[in-house]
Amino acid sequence: MDTLHDSPAPVSPAHMTVGRFAPSPSGRMHLGNVFSSLVAWLSARAQGGRIVMRIEDLDPRTQSGPWTDLLLDDLRWLGLYWDEGPFFQHERFERYRLALDALRERGLVYPCFCTRAELHAASAPHASDGTPIYAGTCRGLSEAEIEHRSQTRPPAMRLRVPDADDPRGVFAFDDAGFGPQRDVLAESCGDFLVRRSDGVFAYQLAVVVDDAEMGVTEVVRGRDLLGSSARQMYLQDLLGYEHPAYAHVPLLVAPEGRRLSKRDRDLDMEGLRERFKTPDALLGWLAHTAGIAPDARPRSAEDLVDLFSWDAIRSHREDIVIDEKALVQA
Ligand code: GLU
Repeated sequence: MDTLHDSPAPVSPAHMTVGRFAPSPSGRMHLGNVFSSLVAWLSARAQGGRIVMRIEDLDPRTQSGPWTDLLLDDLRWLGLYWDEGPFFQHERFERYRLALDALRERGLVYPCFCTRAELHAASAPHASDGTPIYAGTCRGLSEAEIEHRSQTRPPAMRLRVPDADDPRGVFAFDDAGFGPQRDVLAESCGDFLVRRSDGVFAYQLAVVVDDAEMGVTEVVRGRDLLGSSARQMYLQDLLGYEHPAYAHVPLLVAPEGRRLSKRDRDLDMEGLRERFKTPDALLGWLAHTAGIAPDARPRSAEDLVDLFSWDAIRSHREDIVIDEKALVQA
């Protein structure tokens, strides 16, 4: 029988660092995405490790469109090659279903019928990523109520998190980019989604199953996902997986502090490729902006491996502001 734990063994030797690219194909990569990918790649390579490529196309709405091909092409153009994959989340739903079943069998998940408006109205303050802290509204529904409500609205599925005084829900870890972290799940997010009401598996569940099954030992990504790490560690504990090392990087922001967005096509790869002409010009400038290289002269990804250190990344206490004038002159 197919179970959660008989997926193929990861290819890399046990002691090897395995990093990953995990882009969502929701638009063309922007400079911030390039930066996270570059750091993930440099960190793995500096440790003699490997990189797995995984396309995070969980949501059926992101499965069409040109973005996946463009992502792969942009990363290749940059010289950020991967060793395994690409793997596609939309081909792995069965793996997520097995994980959800394993949690369900242990009584750890429950159906939630709350609408978006109800969630916002009932919630206490919002978690660090902007989602409301779940108030536990559907935690204690009886079988009869579940049955009754299911007739009018398909439920989402939530994972119970331990009470605030239960050490199983408290996570302390050292993030390579942002230093010591402590997160009490009951206070930072409450019971969180593992499947949406439209049947799409939640990012938190998919990413945990994928990172474990793909042998990922180091997760490098933007600091907007720092707050997801404890949720992922909790799922890893429940599913019997090791915790990878976490390493978040600052976001790149425009001078007025505005975040780059794929939707607005801010500093996206189409414009960057036109502006810089060569990958080395772009990477050299970016590495200098991020404090990895002492000057902005053109350098290949390979050239940057020896210059890379997490100290350079950690030295940014804040987001990295892009000097648009320098960009225009580039
Ligand atoms: N797919 C996410 C994104 O493109 C990244 C998820 C992760 O690195 O854990 O923002």
